[in-house]
Amino acid sequence: MAARVPAFDAPVSTGAPLARDIDVEVAIVGAGYSGLSAAYALQKRGVECAVLDANPVGWGASGRNGGVVSSKFRVSFPAIASAHGIDVAKRMHRLAHDGVRTVEALVDEFKLERAGFERSGSLRCAHTERAFASIRAEADWLRTSLNDTSMTVQSRAQVAHETGSAGFVGGVLSADAGTILPLEYVRGIAAGMTARGVPIYESTPVIDMSRAQDGRVHLRAPGGSVRAKQVIVATNAYSNLTDATASYHRELVPFRSAMIATAPLPSDLDAQLMVNRRSYTETRRMMKWFRKVDGRMLFGGRDAFGKEGEPTGFDALQRAMIALFPQLKDVAVDYRWSGYVGMTFNALPHVGRSDDATTFCLGYNGAGVAMASLIGQHAAALALGETPELALLAQNGLRPVPFHTLRAPGVRLVAAWYQFLDAVGA
Ligand SMILES: Cc1cc2nc3c(=O)[nH]c(=O)nc-3n(C[C@H](O)[C@H](O)[C@H](O)COP(=O)(O)OP(=O)(O)OC[C@H]3O[C@@H](n4cnc5c(N)ncnc54)[C@H](O)[C@@H]3O)c2cc1C
Repeated sequence: MAARVPAFDAPVSTGAPLARDIDVEVAIVGAGYSGLSAAYALQKRGVECAVLDANPVGWGASGRNGGVVSSKFRVSFPAIASAHGIDVAKRMHRLAHDGVRTVEALVDEFKLERAGFERSGSLRCAHTERAFASIRAEADWLRTSLNDTSMTVQSRAQVAHETGSAGFVGGVLSADAGTILPLEYVRGIAAGMTARGVPIYESTPVIDMSRAQDGRVHLRAPGGSVRAKQVIVATNAYSNLTDATASYHRELVPFRSAMIATAPLPSDLDAQLMVNRRSYTETRRMMKWFRKVDGRMLFGGRDAFGKEGEPTGFDALQRAMIALFPQLKDVAVDYRWSGYVGMTFNALPHVGRSDDATTFCLGYNGAGVAMASLIGQHAAALALGETPELALLAQNGLRPVPFHTLRAPGVRLVAAWYQFLDAVGA
């Protein structure tokens, strides 16, 4: 039973590493949602491909996230409309909802009942009146400008009843969203691809990528090599695992994201908290999110202050949980884990080609369950020379974050500033 929460059951390698030299049409680096979705799209078109990962399937963010399936970007649709016009906002809105459709389609196609996908909606909880006014205005704008009726405003009392927390002044419920068990989802797609004959080589770090004289890309791993006409780099916030993919890391500002899971809740608390089993997020800049899995509370938040594996930040997360849910003060925390999310400067995912044989997709800004499932498939289309609708997500060539080496102190500064603004309710 414990295996249902991501870090309760850290992924172990089941696939063999690459141990010979192979030739494929498209090589995919990274076996998270992005890479496996790209493999899925290629296999559907009859294109021979292989997936290589330095680690077991789902070891990256795809196996350790909060399982919130959402239909939004970090940039709001009204902000997109005012900067780029209503037509672009409509295209971005379509992409955001396509992400949820993609999760549904993959769950159906591979019969991923174990992934427990529920389109139960996502409730965004406002921590101040000002934040509430802003998310209400956004919901109004979506209804009147984009004809999106999936948002409903909830009063303070409704949010308190739904969540069991008196810490919010109101909220907006998005119906086109839900929850999933992230590790089951990524493993399920991988098992489906393996059953269809797509090789997934685990424990296979790509340590070198170069162009051969015949124009093919040559990927070298410790046990063998791959020659491919095209490569898709789907390594996101873990791109710095080897030098071969490190240039993609410079597209991103990696932010550590941490999660805790309580012991199973006593039955009275279980009946009181998160009664509709949705995903819940809040409006603070250093956002927290929460949901229930198997009667345990999962609580997550951005924690920029420590490195992965360090205990820093988990106690702060537990304190934040208790501040919102004082009922949990005597409930033990059984599990703690963290991982990196890839933030981008424009707060949007990036997908494009870094040269005529290499496509990349990354930077989901902490909302990649649905988006990476979709964008991986668009990356596959790009690699085949197709022109999928990408609106503002399209990026031609790599554009490294300026002063990338200063990112760690930069992230700490920004995080501290955001925490200050949250604390003063600004
Ligand atoms: C703690 C946490 C909570 C999150 N919560 C949510 C949430 O609730 N909802 C949501 O939508 N999103 C969430 N996210 C974000 C989401 O998990 C990611 O956006 C998504 O999983 C990205 O998938 P990916 O396939 O692009 O990358 P990953 O899943 O990170 O996969 C990248 C893979 O590349 C491999 N790799 C890297 N370099 C190499 C190399 N050189 N050779 C071979 N392999 C390599 C790595 O081993 C890794 O397996 C969360 C992230 C974290 C860390």
